[in-house]
Amino acid sequence: MATLPELNIPASTSTVDVSIVNTTGILRGLDPSRFFLPKIPGHDYLATPCFAFLLQHPALDRSLVFDLGMRKDYWNWPPHLLGFFEKANVDIIAPKGIREVLDEHGVDTKRIEAVIWSHSHFDHTGDPATFEPSTALIVGPGTKEKLFPGYPANPNARFLESDYAGREVRELDFAASTLRIGQFRAIDYFGDGSFYFLDSPGHCIGHVCGFARVTSSPDSFVLMGGDVIHHDGELRPHHWHPLPDAILPHPFAPLSTTPCPGSLFDALLRDGSREEPIYLPSLEPPPGQRAVHEDPALAAATIRRLQELDAYDNILVAAAHNHYLLQVADFFPAKANGFAAAGWTRKLRWKFLADFAKAVGYEGEVTATGDYTPLPKEGGA
Ligand SMILES: [Zn+2]
Repeated sequence: MATLPELNIPASTSTVDVSIVNTTGILRGLDPSRFFLPKIPGHDYLATPCFAFLLQHPALDRSLVFDLGMRKDYWNWPPHLLGFFEKANVDIIAPKGIREVLDEHGVDTKRIEAVIWSHSHFDHTGDPATFEPSTALIVGPGTKEKLFPGYPANPNARFLESDYAGREVRELDFAASTLRIGQFRAIDYFGDGSFYFLDSPGHCIGHVCGFARVTSSPDSFVLMGGDVIHHDGELRPHHWHPLPDAILPHPFAPLSTTPCPGSLFDALLRDGSREEPIYLPSLEPPPGQRAVHEDPALAAATIRRLQELDAYDNILVAAAHNHYLLQVADFFPAKANGFAAAGWTRKLRWKFLADFAKAVGYEGEVTATGDYTPLPKEGGA
C-alpha cells in the first residue's frame, strides 16, 4: 500500500463515547444523478437512512448530538420542500424524532449541551425545538449570515425559524484556530483532543464534519460525515485504497469465501484508473431539478482531503446516508468505540460496489449481511 499521508493529529489520551444513531428517517426515491455522476445503470434511485451521532464525554460529563435526521412532523417543512418531494415522487418516512429514539434508551437528553447541524438541510436539522431551551444549536461558518433566517421569514429556507427560536446559536469559527487535521481546518471542541470539528465545505454553506477519538493507545477515530459524500463511490477507490485485484468480503455475496475479482468493475472506472473514485459530485442538476451542491468543485476538493483520512483503518468514515453501515456497524444504543478492533472499516470499504451488480452484469442474487433490508421503491424502481 502507498505510504500513508501525515495527518498530524495531536496526541491525547482523552476519548469520547460515540454511538451511531439510526434516526428512523428514510428518504426513498431520490435521483442519484442530482448528487453524483456519471449515471450507472441499475443504480437508479437512492433509499437513504439519515444517521446521526450521540457523543458522550464521560470524564467531563458532557454530551452532544451531531445531526438530527428529519423532523417527524415533516409536513411542517417549508412548502417549497414539500412541493419538490411531491413532484419528484420521493417517499418520506420519519416515524420518530431523534429525541424520542434517545429517550427510549434512557439517555439524559435534558442535559445535552448542544445539538449540531453538519449543515442546514432538512434531513439533518430535525426539530431542535424538541430539545430543552438550554440545549444550544451549533452551526458551521457562514450559516447565520448567509442562510438565516429560517422559514417563514425566508420563504426559500430549508429549515424553520422555530428550529432556533429562544435558543443559543453558536457558529463555529475556524479562522480562530490554527489547528489542522490532515488538510482540514479543525477546532478542538472540548480542548482535550477528544472531539474536533472539521471544516468541510462544498455541499452546503457551513458544512462541518465531526472527528471523535473513541480509543487511545491505539488511537481510533469516528468521522461523522454528514453529507460530505452521498455515496462511498465518491470517496473510493483512491490512492491509498485502489480497487483491489481480489475483493473480500465479496460485495455481492458477503458470506462467500471466494473473493470478487476487481476487474469486474474495470468498465466503471473513471479514466480507467483504479485510484480514482467512481463518482464525482454532480456539477449540474438533471434538467428541471434544483442543484443539491452549493459548490460542487469545492465539494470534490473536500472529498480529496477526506481520502487522506479514509486511508487509515483506524478512522471510520461514517456518512449520514451510507446504508451499508447498517450491515457492518452496531448502532445506538451500542457504542461504536470498538469499531477498529471489530474491523468495520475493512468490512465497509467495498460494500458500495453492490450497487453496481446490474451494471457489471452480475447474475446472482445480491445478499446482505446484518439487518438491512434494501427497501425497494414502491411500484418498482
Ligand atoms: Zn443529507
